[in-house]
This record gives sequence, structure tokens and C-alpha cells, in this order.
Amino acid sequence: MLSEFDLIKQYFDHTQINDARIALGIGDDCALINPTAGMQLAISTDMLVSGRHFFPDADAFMLGHKSLAVNLSDLAAMGARPLAFTLALSLPEANPTWLAAFSRGLFSLAKQHDCHLIGGDTTKGPLNICITIFGEVPFGMALRRDAAKVGEDIWISGSLGDARLALGAYRYELHLSESMLTSAAQRLHQPTPRIDLGIALRGIASAALDISDGLSGDLGHILERSQVGAKICLDDLPVGVILRSQDLARRREFSLFGGDDYELCFTAPKEKREAVIAAGLACQTHVTRVGEIVEQPELQLLDALGQNLTFDDTSFDHFRSS
Ligand code: ADP
Ligand code: MG
Repeated sequence: MLSEFDLIKQYFDHTQINDARIALGIGDDCALINPTAGMQLAISTDMLVSGRHFFPDADAFMLGHKSLAVNLSDLAAMGARPLAFTLALSLPEANPTWLAAFSRGLFSLAKQHDCHLIGGDTTKGPLNICITIFGEVPFGMALRRDAAKVGEDIWISGSLGDARLALGAYRYELHLSESMLTSAAQRLHQPTPRIDLGIALRGIASAALDISDGLSGDLGHILERSQVGAKICLDDLPVGVILRSQDLARRREFSLFGGDDYELCFTAPKEKREAVIAAGLACQTHVTRVGEIVEQPELQLLDALGQNLTFDDTSFDHFRSS
């Protein structure tokens, strides 16, 4: 049997941290971070619960990736650069095969972003993965939800809806060919946090957030915090590559309400259009202008002809739906 100490040593404390920003990593009562002068710490926590956020038999490598990806995505949405993270892990058993794959998924993404595991907690219990992430952003430059202004453009990175499409196939709501499901599932299991874009948008974008629960509901958070409304042209939304093969109603529904895409939604003044496009090009991330911030405090959905559309569906809400 693997002791708790051996488990941490073998799967989570097996790499040397060589980064001046981290003064002390795993092994003491606390980790120590050297914040860079003139920077603010950006901190966020996301918990993934078995049976709630992922299927109990989910692939461990992908789970390692996704647990960190959703946290990195929050840093991206603030324009913060990743620094370090802690991992609180509740495990039903110390299964070496599972732990090795989980650790590989976690560390391969961590390495890509120079984000170091500096501590955590390990306990026996139902599978539950909780990561707290730390990043840095120059003082006053964070992309906050409360900063959208009337007249600004609304932009979306990458594409929407393929993660929701994969989920629909898993739930037998719809059928996808095997190759389509493989591509869509990649978006669901291994989202790409838009870290470079978030950083490139500092000083260009006003407000931003990452889309985890569906554009409609998430954009609603920006509108509420900024006390503004929005007009979105539904047929301008960047529809996922696989979702494009589906009918219009599904394309609209999944790109508007589908969760788990982890794309950025942000606003920027009209005179920054060229700068936004340049930022997207510089980090090889597609950006699409989808609407405008307006005074009237509601979300208006328009079709390609400018006609108003209404939906009775809503963004995913953990406490309303079961
Ligand atoms: P404490 O008794 O202070 O809670 P622990 O014995 O739980 O310390 O942990 C020992 C060290 O291992 C600490 O530095 C802690 O941050 C780290 N640690 C524990 N679990 C994990 C984990 N899952 N991932 C990374 N570090 C961990
Ligand atoms: Mg502990």
C-alpha cells in the first residue's frame, strides 16, 4: 500500500521547481511565492466533483488536464500570467495507474504554462479534485467583469458548442459518427485555456470572462456587473467545427447555451478593433466580433436579418437543473 507521503512524493512532488518566482514549493507547512514588484496576485479556485463535473470512469490523463485547464482559464479571463497552483485531492483509493495518468495530464499542461504545483492536501474519500491557482497581472490591468461600457464591441475567442455536442452524444440526446465524437470530445475533455490571448488583451479589452456555463449566462455576468445590456447576432457566433454539420436550431442552441468551451468573451472599444485582431493573430487564436454593449439592461438576440429571437432554454445552472 502506498503511504500518503509516498503518493505525494511519487506523483506530485517529483519535479524540481526552477523558478525565481517560487521561493518554496511542496514539503513545508506553506509554500512561499515571491510576487513580482508592481504586480497584483490573481487567485481562483475550481473544484471538479465526480459524477457532477465528470463521469466517474473518466480518463485520468484527461481529468488531470481538465482540472488545471479550467483554473488556468480563469487566469486567462483576467489577463493574468500563471505562477503556481495547489491541489486538494480526495481519492477513493491510491491506484498507481490512475495516479500516474492523472499526474501526467496535470503536469504536461502545467509545464506548458510555467505553472508550478506548490502544495496541496491528500485525503481518502469520494473522488474530488480542487485546484487553487495563482497568477500575476500588472497593477490595475486585470480584465474585470464590471468594466464593459456602452458602445463597446463584444468578442469571442475560438469557437463554441463542440463540448456541448460531445456531451449530447454521451447522453444519447443525439448521434455523432465516431470521428466527429472524437473531435468534439477533445473540446470537452481537454479545453485550451486562452492564457496568451488574455495577456495580449491587457490594455485593449475592457471586460472579460471565460465561458464555462454557456455564453448566454456567462455574458449575463458581465452585463450585470457592468450594469449594461448587449445585442448579440446569433448567426455571427463562431460555431465549433463539428457543430457546423448540425441543423440551424442546434447550432444556435449549443453555441449560445452550451457549456465547457472555456473560450474568452470580452468587450473592447470600437477603436480597438485592429488591436484585438492583432492580439488574436499574435497568439494564433481566432477572435470573432459577435455584438455590441448597449444601455438597455438585457440580452437581445438577433438573427442574420436583425430580427429578435427568443429562447426558453437557459445556461446551465447547478442548482436549478438536476
Ligand atoms: P500538513 O500536515 O501541513 O497538512 P501534509 O502532510 O498534508 O501537510 O502535506 C505535506 C506536504 O505535501 C505539504 O507541503 C503539502 O502542501 C503537500 N501536499 C499534500 N498533498 C498534496 C497534493 N495532492 N499535491 C501537492 N502537494 C501536496
Ligand atoms: Mg494536509
